[in-house]
Amino acid sequence: MQRILVDNYLIETPISKIIELLRISLTNGKLRDVQDKPDDIVVSCPFHSGGQEEHGSCFIRKKDGVFHCFGCGEKGSFLKFVAECFDAPESYAKAWLLKNFGGELIAKNLFMGEPIVLNRNKGIKKHLDESILDQYQTWNPYLAKRKLSREICELFKVRYDPKYRQVIFPAYDMNGNLVMLAKRSIDVKSFYLDKDVEKPVYCLDYVMKNNIKTVLITEGPFDCLTGWEYGFPTIATFGKISDYQIEQINKSCINIIYAAFDNDAAGRSFLETLKRKLTKRIIIIETKFPAWRKDLNDLTKEELQEIIKNARNS
Ligand SMILES: [Zn+2]
Repeated sequence: MQRILVDNYLIETPISKIIELLRISLTNGKLRDVQDKPDDIVVSCPFHSGGQEEHGSCFIRKKDGVFHCFGCGEKGSFLKFVAECFDAPESYAKAWLLKNFGGELIAKNLFMGEPIVLNRNKGIKKHLDESILDQYQTWNPYLAKRKLSREICELFKVRYDPKYRQVIFPAYDMNGNLVMLAKRSIDVKSFYLDKDVEKPVYCLDYVMKNNIKTVLITEGPFDCLTGWEYGFPTIATFGKISDYQIEQINKSCINIIYAAFDNDAAGRSFLETLKRKLTKRIIIIETKFPAWRKDLNDLTKEELQEIIKNARNS
């Protein structure tokens, strides 16, 4: 399968198609020779001889777009290659690639060292209709204050309700059904959960869809999304962990859990409950926050990486 990454976006258009459009878009005569080989596209190198090589010596790997020129020795990412074809900076090449070939936002999975596509399957029967989200705004500056980017909010369909000044977190069950909207006031530190619904494990649907084996677990949705923002797949319990939630985790594809509950008495009790009821199949690893940090949302990315590195098997 082809994996061309441009920043955090995955481009799925076959590389031969991209080269085709690139070639006709250029006005500098580069890419005059293009040969489609089984594993590579071999082209006139844009880096040497002013890009006017008659017979291509630059190999672009079809699987990931990485190129290597046997004429001049230049090599690097597909983004670098495209930029050189245009005689433009990489920022221009990036914009061109994303404009023409879409690209799906992915989050880097630091545990497995490879990117995970965050793609919610469509067409699954929903318990709540997704259109319920249309009444809300898709962005509010408060979200940035809580360290969340527009990209992550878009991925997890976070919304803002201006009328009640609440952030809305759509919560899906592990099969991808929308089961409730968790609401968090931006003025007071309180959460509103639908009492009639068994609360699901937040983001477990993404974990399942992408068959992610290693996750962090936290309490609140802000902590959870901060984890994703920092590149760590994360799930959350919406406060106190329930038996139903542990049951869901036990049935999931997860093999390793880094416990990153709040740095307080409640957080420690959730960890004890989890350790007691979690299936033996899943390894649980405790993390230790610096004393002055209350929860994951308080941490910097570097601090979280450090905490993960120093976490121990319990
Ligand atoms: Zn070259």
